[in-house]
Amino acid sequence: MAVNEASCVFCRILKGEIPSQKIYEDESSIVVRDVNPQAPFHLLVIPREHVPDIAGALRREKGEERVGKLFNTSVRIATEQGFGSSGFRLVVNSGTDGGQTVGHLHLHLMGGRQMTWPPG
Ligand code: 5GP
Ligand code: ZN
Repeated sequence: MAVNEASCVFCRILKGEIPSQKIYEDESSIVVRDVNPQAPFHLLVIPREHVPDIAGALRREKGEERVGKLFNTSVRIATEQGFGSSGFRLVVNSGTDGGQTVGHLHLHLMGGRQMTWPPG
């Protein structure tokens, strides 16, 4: 999953080299629509810093705080977008078996349909 920042899809979105539908941004993250949505509402919460995965993010200085902020942003946007009472799903894929395809940490925020369990 290691990838350098120059070729990283999400770093390129962050630099504006790849267009995206941006919903929100602050000093630590951006939130964009997933290009291949798996639910009527499917956003990606992407930290500005290139960090390959959740374990790597947690190992960094203030990692718990930074990861916590990504979750906080996700929940706030889910609520603002009207999914507070109907519900939503947050997913972090990690590594090959986890189904991660982009090696830059991101949270999937999905809603607008009944989710199933177990996930595929
Ligand atoms: P993963 O499989 O790594 O958990 O999720 C990567 C996600 O990034 C996928 O849902 C995929 O559709 C999305 N994605 C890949 N390339 C792009 C892109 O260029 N723009 C946007 N907005 N999403 C992308
Ligand atoms: Zn990156």
